[in-house]
Amino acid sequence: MITKIMLLSIFTSFACSAFAAKQVEAEKYWMKLKATNKVERTELLNAGLAIEHGIHDDYAILIGNKDDLEAAKKTGKLIEHFKAEAGLFDFPSKDSKFHNYDEMLREMQAIRALNPNIVQLQNIGRTHEGRMIVNIKISGNMRYSSQLPAIVFTGTHHAREHLSTEMPLMLARALVEGYNSQNFNLQKLINSREINIIPMVNPDGVEHDIADGVYKRWRKNRRDNGDGTYGVDLNRNYGYLWGTGGSSKRTSSDVYMGPKPFSEPETQAIKAFVENKPNITTLLSFHTFSELILYPWGHTDEPIANERDRRVHEIMANRMSKWNNYTPQASADLYKTSGDTTDWAYGEHGIISFTFELDPKSLWSGGFYPGQDMIPVVFNKNINPCLYLIEFADNPYRVLQSRSKRLGFTTDFLEY
Ligand SMILES: [Zn+2]
Repeated sequence: MITKIMLLSIFTSFACSAFAAKQVEAEKYWMKLKATNKVERTELLNAGLAIEHGIHDDYAILIGNKDDLEAAKKTGKLIEHFKAEAGLFDFPSKDSKFHNYDEMLREMQAIRALNPNIVQLQNIGRTHEGRMIVNIKISGNMRYSSQLPAIVFTGTHHAREHLSTEMPLMLARALVEGYNSQNFNLQKLINSREINIIPMVNPDGVEHDIADGVYKRWRKNRRDNGDGTYGVDLNRNYGYLWGTGGSSKRTSSDVYMGPKPFSEPETQAIKAFVENKPNITTLLSFHTFSELILYPWGHTDEPIANERDRRVHEIMANRMSKWNNYTPQASADLYKTSGDTTDWAYGEHGIISFTFELDPKSLWSGGFYPGQDMIPVVFNKNINPCLYLIEFADNPYRVLQSRSKRLGFTTDFLEY
């Protein structure tokens, strides 16, 4: 049994800056609630409570503000709670290998400088606080890339999920370095694809999370809700069957859906980007944590009605799980969510779509802040799934064919 003292040491990561002190989210509470299955987990989300741990246990753990605590009490499922203290975690010294926003922009420029012929940096929109949301476009055939099969990787919709910036950023570098090192198969692949990598969808949230040198466990963007609370959950703000469960209308909630679908500049940017690229066939949205491969649907327990589409998602998720050892499942098997990226990308555009909940597996092994040593571990586990998705982006339905027909460019370094 984990003691309260131990938990306090795990959760000593809350800042109470002079500015934040006035806000309702400044006071943080650690809560443990009964939740044995996806139905009970969904009930908590519907109460506006964002579960941090609970996938592999019969209870859910969450950190929330005072409003969340009240909502938790109302569910009748609250087992115990206590106030979490301000703490010691320091992004720059302890986790300096993680990229803050400016460092990420510099790394993007460095990646471009490796080979400007195959890399373009594109500003696809601006956040509430005016930061650029940047796409790294990689193609060996830049001029005609709009006619090539395209894939899009996104990272860090949720601010505190910093590994989900690092993974796509490292992917971009690996692709360009591989291309430059005369890896023939990789060159062929990159010459015949348009690869889009948007490592940080929510830079305002990221900067807020690390601004005071201590992690705030911030999840949402930084919209001023006008009532003393901040932020919309960007992964509940997409427009497909928005607000139909697993999200909250309460502005102080960590799963606040926003005032309307696509109310946020960050989700608007992704929407416009995807709508302008009908060549996108495949999408992967990186999140942390839990070590899961999720695919639609999130808003309903029903499987995807189209048999072929359902099988493509299942086969690809299973294949990728062989590399990263994550658990493949339909998103709603975890708990219901509406307004997320993948339901929208598949539901609205027919794009084959996945969410990876990266390492670690649980809160007890680091949760959102597992430390910088996890960066190369996560990369090594997930590079092959990424290459696999890039390869099959020309026609993901190829996975339904016999093995000999499935083989493609990357077979020299991918075995499947
Ligand atoms: Zn997330």
